[in-house]
Amino acid sequence: MFINLIEIYETLKKEYTIPEGWWPGENQFEIMLGALLTQNTNWNNVVKSLENIKNKNLLYPEKLYVLDIEELQKLIKPSGFFKVKAKYVKNLLEWFKKYDFSFEKLEKIDKITLRNELLSVKGIGKETADSILLYSLNKLSFVIDAYTKRMFSRLGLNIKSDYDAYQKFFEENLPENIMIYKNYHGLIVEHSKNICKKKPLCENCIFKDLCKYNKGA
Ligand code: SF4
Repeated sequence: MFINLIEIYETLKKEYTIPEGWWPGENQFEIMLGALLTQNTNWNNVVKSLENIKNKNLLYPEKLYVLDIEELQKLIKPSGFFKVKAKYVKNLLEWFKKYDFSFEKLEKIDKITLRNELLSVKGIGKETADSILLYSLNKLSFVIDAYTKRMFSRLGLNIKSDYDAYQKFFEENLPENIMIYKNYHGLIVEHSKNICKKKPLCENCIFKDLCKYNKGA
């Protein structure tokens, strides 16, 4: 089935009000850290961890880099898997240190190089790497998650159900526009949490007339 990504985007945009750029965070480092901490947990738990870090005035890569790992574990405990995540944060910071903890330096590097480097950091998978690239570093790297695959396969997208195939499909069919990339992923999350859930609410869905799943095809 032919999937018109822009048409779907426009329909989602009319339906949901999201902040421009979608991902919350006061600065690039907060977004980077949040992208890692959100692995296998919900966002409310990440917010609690970030608040703990902010309350101690530690939301700086240089400060977290030198922070004792046990102290870091305590601060990020609300996000779950805190021992392993503390190690992952330290791994990420070790990598970031090569660039003197400078976002300006990171932004000057091309996306492919950065992505490969991030993926070589233990604890950073494709979804986390792309979230960091897109939302923290403003690189055109479309984020794929389980929601994206579920929603689009139901709509009728007939491609291999793996991360790379989905990402290729989005990146080949969307204009190179950072805000569209950022908002689109956010809108997919909104729609998947509210309507196209595990048990979908098709009767209330803006796509019910075109969706393959709803039409029983
Ligand atoms: S019609 Fe149903 S299955 Fe299709 S996108 Fe909407 S909620 Fe999901």
